[in-house]
Amino acid sequence: MAPVAEANRCASMHDELFSIMAARRGHFRLESGHHGELWLDVDRLFVQPDRVRPMAAKLAERLAAHNIECVCGPLTGGAFLAQMITEEMGVPWVYAARVAAPAAEGLFPIAYPIPSALAEFVRGQRTAVINDVTNAGSAVRGAIASLQDHGAKLAAIASLLVLGSAAAELASQVGVPLESLAQAANAIWPPATCPMCAAQAPLESIDA
Ligand SMILES: [Zn+2]
Repeated sequence: MAPVAEANRCASMHDELFSIMAARRGHFRLESGHHGELWLDVDRLFVQPDRVRPMAAKLAERLAAHNIECVCGPLTGGAFLAQMITEEMGVPWVYAARVAAPAAEGLFPIAYPIPSALAEFVRGQRTAVINDVTNAGSAVRGAIASLQDHGAKLAAIASLLVLGSAAAELASQVGVPLESLAQAANAIWPPATCPMCAAQAPLESIDA
């Protein structure tokens, strides 16, 4: 594909994803505990699966280069996407459950354990972590920790949309490629250094 056409395709993918997830600006607390000014309603992403399935197919094409033997999606959206991708790739898929650690505070308070009944499907397997939108990387980070606990060989991280630089930094730390279909700049901050908090802007409440 010519570079210009590729750039246009990425722009349209970005616009399509922002439209599906009703992007809005404000002052939000992310699952990771960071504050940010962009909110995407990821729960809307799979309401019309036909809009997402071609994207899943495209991401599966990218992953084919990495000899993937298993895919792992953190609940909720990453797991739905992983299920679509496994239909394209014909490899097993597992999910990582979303569990709030009791009384957890600070950054990354959510854990993503893989059910022990599924551990045998990842042990020793070249496994890709699949996510829908990766911002601070809470779900991807949690799924990686669980895969490592179960002896998987982490082979790639794939996300439909990557916001900011945390996903690339995480991929670099764990030494695997990061595949994505769209990227957007996005600033996030620990609460203590959030400029919107400093300006006393109220946090918007989100049902999550
Ligand atoms: Zn703030």
